[in-house]
Amino acid sequence: MKVYKFGGASVRDAGSFRNLAHIVKTYGGERQLLVVVSAMGKTTNALEQVFDKAYHNQSYETALQQCLGYHQEVVTELFPDKEHPVYERLAHLFTMLQNDLEHLNRKSNYDKLYDQIVCYGELFSSVILHHFLQAEGLCNVWLDSRKYIQTDTTWREAKVDWVWSERVIKRDLPALLEEQLVVTQGFLGGTNNGLTTTLGREGSDFSAAVIAYCLDAEGMYIWKDVEGLLNADPKYFADTVRYPEISYQETVEMAYYGASVIHPKTIKPLANKKIPLYVKSFLNPAGEGTRICDCKHEKIAPAYIIKENQCLVSFSAKDFTFISEKNLGTIFNALSELRFKINLMQNSAISFSICTDYNEERLHKLIATLQDQFNIHYNTSLKLFTIKNYDNDSITKIMTDKQILLEQRTRNTLQFVSR
Ligand code: ASP
Ligand code: MG
Repeated sequence: MKVYKFGGASVRDAGSFRNLAHIVKTYGGERQLLVVVSAMGKTTNALEQVFDKAYHNQSYETALQQCLGYHQEVVTELFPDKEHPVYERLAHLFTMLQNDLEHLNRKSNYDKLYDQIVCYGELFSSVILHHFLQAEGLCNVWLDSRKYIQTDTTWREAKVDWVWSERVIKRDLPALLEEQLVVTQGFLGGTNNGLTTTLGREGSDFSAAVIAYCLDAEGMYIWKDVEGLLNADPKYFADTVRYPEISYQETVEMAYYGASVIHPKTIKPLANKKIPLYVKSFLNPAGEGTRICDCKHEKIAPAYIIKENQCLVSFSAKDFTFISEKNLGTIFNALSELRFKINLMQNSAISFSICTDYNEERLHKLIATLQDQFNIHYNTSLKLFTIKNYDNDSITKIMTDKQILLEQRTRNTLQFVSR
């Protein structure tokens, strides 16, 4: 039994759907395969904007119509027969989304409502995929992942109830998979009272891993627009190297430092059950890709990871005293309350600095909370560079001619913040 995950780029237009079906047919087989799919292209971003406008009582109609029109266009190309049931099912979902937007309860929590709206991206794409695979002769059943991945109510970043989910997935899915393919949504979970949650942006990888874990899959496959796990993002570097095989540990660390290939939470459930993760190219499915597994390699190529849109925040005590453990406690409490993710931190005599993803609203809340006790300074539009398994060449390659604001080095990893 295998799990395939296809991201937004692999379902961004009609041609990509055809390519996906070809991959499933050629490499997946007709049963014992579960397909997890993300929202089409950049749909999640589009729905985020639609929702934000709706929530703030601004006009969202144009943005919404653009998003629905995009789906409609792809479906029209994939299903020439206008009587095909996919049209009715999509129309129904469109109406539900429109209704939900019209009746937003603005008194309710923003993040909670966000989950109820943004989930439509995956519902649309999975319904289209279900019907399309069917039309291609790949018999499959559409599954509502919200009924199988149960979570708490940490909206937009929901935590999975592993015991519940494993029990229900193990109870229902093996029999289905015995007969046919299963198609389901990434990114979505559900609460025990039927509300939708999301697992964090780019969370479909994690969804696939949750299901692979619960089913003791023999392998999970992520189909991407790159040849495998690379040592750098080809957007920034011309000469990248593919790792043919790499350990869970290395991969987790790379994801943690911000390599965008795999969602950071994906590896742990797989590693716990030693399920190998294959990263393959949907543009070149016959290519070798990368196998991430329980292995050890003495020396591996340095990995270069860049996190953009970083913000460096420094706190110093107003009375010029040293930064004490008590001060740090206060700062960390505020950071944790506001769900900050610290990417790097450094302590000096009278100041404490963190590098974090920039979010204007959240930063202002932090300042409001702490400004009575601390002087707070910050710089934005920064980049955080990480070189894992660095050597002299890699340092020269990256650090030359950069203006560096902060630097940290361990035996294996070098990090610095620069403009
Ligand atoms: N569609 C969601 C997002 O764009 C989940 C995913 O793509 O993994 O964040
Ligand atoms: Mg996506």
